[in-house]
Amino acid sequence: MDSAEFRRHAHAFVDWMADYLATVERYPVRAQVKPGEIAGRVPQAPPERGEPMETIFEDFKSIIVPGITHWQHPSFFAYFPANSSPPSLLAEMLTATLGAQCMLWQTSPAATELETRVLDWLRQMVGLPEGFTGVIQDSASSAILCAILTARERATGWRVNEQGVGSGERLTVYCSGETHSATEKDVKIAGLGRTNLRKIPVDDAFAMRPDALEAAILADKAAGATPICVVASIGATGVGAVDSLAAIGPVCRRHGVWLHVDAAWAGSALVLPEHRWMLDGVEHVDSFVFNPHKWMLTNFDCSAHYVRDPDALVRTLGILPAFLKTREQSHVIDYRDWSVQLGRRFRALKLWFVVRSYGVEGIQRLIRGHIALASEAERWIAEAEDFELMAPRRLALLNFRYHPRSVGGAAELDRLNERLLEALNDSGELYLTQNRVRGAYTIRLSIGQTSTERRHVEAAWTRIRDTARALRA
Ligand code: PLP
Repeated sequence: MDSAEFRRHAHAFVDWMADYLATVERYPVRAQVKPGEIAGRVPQAPPERGEPMETIFEDFKSIIVPGITHWQHPSFFAYFPANSSPPSLLAEMLTATLGAQCMLWQTSPAATELETRVLDWLRQMVGLPEGFTGVIQDSASSAILCAILTARERATGWRVNEQGVGSGERLTVYCSGETHSATEKDVKIAGLGRTNLRKIPVDDAFAMRPDALEAAILADKAAGATPICVVASIGATGVGAVDSLAAIGPVCRRHGVWLHVDAAWAGSALVLPEHRWMLDGVEHVDSFVFNPHKWMLTNFDCSAHYVRDPDALVRTLGILPAFLKTREQSHVIDYRDWSVQLGRRFRALKLWFVVRSYGVEGIQRLIRGHIALASEAERWIAEAEDFELMAPRRLALLNFRYHPRSVGGAAELDRLNERLLEALNDSGELYLTQNRVRGAYTIRLSIGQTSTERRHVEAAWTRIRDTARALRA
């Protein structure tokens, strides 16, 4: 493809992109296709000869788009949001065009130096104290893995890196039953064994109980195990549980245990001073992650990972073959040693574009607006006599269920709400997911898309209520 042809196609694509963003509301939110339907439309063998871009683009529109779940739809209330925004998209176009692989300072000094600077901007924006140094990871899962690996090495004097986990040796990790499953996965990947992950009971507000944490650590020590890491949550996935860092931190300090904070979703809300109480006790924290790719207008992927001791992270992950050596390595940052993968995309560019384009004030306004919408929806649900909130609202996250008076049995209620959720998602008008709160099936509604307005939330509530009542009619 020559330059003139590229330019022509790129302009057509940009037109499609702008139209898509302007009309995304017209698509069904959750893809309405059956398993295998899309694969059935893609030939089993690759083409022998190159095809015109016009044909490929037409197939993108007719084959691929129908199989897309539209995460940028304003009525996407499932999971947590995966924000995109026009400034972030523009930066992604430039990143893709540069095609730089930014593993070393030398392989793109601007990428490294911008990453350092922009992550310090973010640190200030969310109120993390000085002394935390940031790096962009692909995901919160990777950041938690880095934390567990560093904790493992620190606790064993960097022995496991050299010799592996000894037979019979037990290194234990702690989280609560509310903590995202990424921690359990990372414990498996780190070779610690799932049976060495302790899920600490929570209190009535779904927060990890510090007394139960300390009891578990003491029991493990008495049994000859080495407690290495606690993963606390600020805004866990189910009901948005917030663990008290001020209560858990001293327990970690007393026992020399690494404290990592997973704030993947709620971390973005720390841009709002009224929610900074969630950071009380942050002085005890060793590492922290939040995802601007969730709720800070920045396209997937972009996880902001902060550590107090970068040397410990680099010592854990560092490896330096001859082919990666550079003249400058002693006095620059080479981010290759800060994450699992060697190669790195230029992710700082989109963050820079987003923060400059919206400003701190614009980001605050968006997140505050989502929280206000969730608060309104909370009131509508609370006021409907046949609905109930299943957990207190956390920021812009709600858990509720339909509970008409005539239905009393737990299993019947679960089934009814499951049917309700399926009917809602099959409608293509909105997309929600499910959760279990104290064993009961709940519908989970999370507000946070860039383009969600009050009318979308109001329409969602009307449809939820009417669909539920129609199911019983
Ligand atoms: N932690 C929490 C609280 C989450 O909600 C999620 C995902 O939604 C994760 C961790 C995992 O995030 P990632 O997809 O960035 O690994």
